Amino acid sequence: MPVDQLPQAFTERISHQLGDEYPSFLEALSVAPPIGVRRNPLKPASLFPDASPIAWCPEGMILSERPVFALDPLWHAGAYYVQEPSSMLVDFALRSYYKGGASDKILDLCAAPGGKTTLLAANAPFTSLIIANEVIRKRYSVLRENIARWGDERIQCTNHDPKDFVSLAGEFNLVLVDAPCSGEGLFRKDRVAIQEWSPENADICVHRQSGILAIAASLVATDGLLIYCTCTFNPEENDDQIAPLLLSGDWENLQSDTPEEWGMIATTYGVQCWPHRVEGEGFYLAVLRRKTPAPRIESQARKGLTDYRPATSREKELIYPYLTPSFTGDVVVRLSDGAIFTNPLRELDNITNALPRMSFGIRIGEIKGKDFIPAHELALSTLVHADTDSLDLSFEEALRYLRRDALSAPDGIRHGWTLMRYQGLALGWAKTMPGRINNYLPMELRLRLRD
Ligand code: SAM
Repeated sequence: MPVDQLPQAFTERISHQLGDEYPSFLEALSVAPPIGVRRNPLKPASLFPDASPIAWCPEGMILSERPVFALDPLWHAGAYYVQEPSSMLVDFALRSYYKGGASDKILDLCAAPGGKTTLLAANAPFTSLIIANEVIRKRYSVLRENIARWGDERIQCTNHDPKDFVSLAGEFNLVLVDAPCSGEGLFRKDRVAIQEWSPENADICVHRQSGILAIAASLVATDGLLIYCTCTFNPEENDDQIAPLLLSGDWENLQSDTPEEWGMIATTYGVQCWPHRVEGEGFYLAVLRRKTPAPRIESQARKGLTDYRPATSREKELIYPYLTPSFTGDVVVRLSDGAIFTNPLRELDNITNALPRMSFGIRIGEIKGKDFIPAHELALSTLVHADTDSLDLSFEEALRYLRRDALSAPDGIRHGWTLMRYQGLALGWAKTMPGRINNYLPMELRLRLRD
């Protein structure tokens, strides 16, 4: 990135902030950003043998060059998430401070496109509940797509403004706020971030962050954690957001003790990654533990989820052969269209009442006449029964499947729903019969790119 495109007000402030290190910072901005990916622990696969490890995140790695991820069937199968390396520092914070109780409730308040949600899930107890919330509708759709690909039944996506959470004061054991910010740490890889930057926009971010943080703080249970992060260098969006919380006396500040060789700089309340010191972009992180109970806030009762009913025993009879025998959860049916979902919320009516715009854990499918039609989300999830009929595809066949091109049926193929797999990981469903494979990959997920 040509550094002469940086806004003057930005360079003036950063040169003051960095002093002698400023020339190294500018130099770092002129080289290509490192490409990070993180393994999905739910979907073991053989990935990028030449990648180098990331010290602060055991599942993370930096690639020697950027592949075309869309042409990698393992990316479509959810075997890994493409994520900026310094933001994986959240993993270190979680491993350092999050103890993880069996019935913990975890909230990612600003979640799209979902990278940190998948990090939270990787560190959360098996029986916990994770809510991934995104206020902007279009970004919520991307969040749902990424979470479906990740395949973790515990994650529930919601599409709400943080204000809608106020009745859930003290409800969560871990709240992550990856706040919308001025994005200074993204300048190297995203030109739009430079174009959108101005001191006035940064002030708007500061104001917005204070509002989001005030609500987020009220949602944390006693002894629970609040993790705040941004991808900016602006102290007003970072440490200055933490200071008022600490003044209240309700919080303990947990400093992330990163080893010196990792290159992060400790700030008054958190830790800052700079691209000239850490292989990654700009990132700030602070961790707080709540010492006192959050005050309860009275709010108007809402109707909750009126559009769902429990599955009947006949429906369960058709569905359960497709689900892993260890699944003991609830299954619900949406009245408007008959779509069937798992419901990790079970009895948590206060959550469903507060957040009616939510998608359930995993979409399982629907029943048409006497037949069960399995959903794409089920294929990608850990819920699908391991003994489900499947067909292992070569690399070329996997791309043909992902493009919805014709596939030839091998001899002896069975009649029925079959998982199309690559390296043992499901890509989606096909309906097979002797001599024929009907591709059921959702049209909107069809790979349009040719190599
Ligand atoms: N956590 C995400 C990840 O790791 O993939 C990135 C989150 S991004 C830094 C911040 C998110 O906050 C964006 O998705 C944005 O749409 C959302 N957002 C914007 N305005 C918001 C607001 N007023 N309240 C809550 N979230 C907001």
